[in-house]
Amino acid sequence: MIACRRYRCVSCGAILTVVPRGVAPRFGFQQLSMAMNVGQAEDWGLSLPDGSRIHLWLMPDGRWIAHRDATDPSLSPLHAAVHVLTATPLGVAVAFLGVVGLTAVAMSRA
Ligand SMILES: [Zn+2]
Repeated sequence: MIACRRYRCVSCGAILTVVPRGVAPRFGFQQLSMAMNVGQAEDWGLSLPDGSRIHLWLMPDGRWIAHRDATDPSLSPLHAAVHVLTATPLGVAVAFLGVVGLTAVAMSRA
């Protein structure tokens, strides 16, 4: 058993699990070639049978930070698109622009 600390992000509400220094990724984790940059030095992922993924960030100071991605973007291009739209700031921007666009269309018809 590994003792981890959990924190809630004050801006997005995400739960982050901080894994102690010295705990290397094992048990099928793959190093990821692409991920949103939050200051991490490396990204590691473990696909889960339910279509989600455990995502580890190796920070420059040696800490490991883990979170669970609801959709594993490595499964298919569709999964990658869903992940970008639901788990990144780009998805929030697309949703905002969609609401603005629909509002503009609705107001032009009124
Ligand atoms: Zn992630």
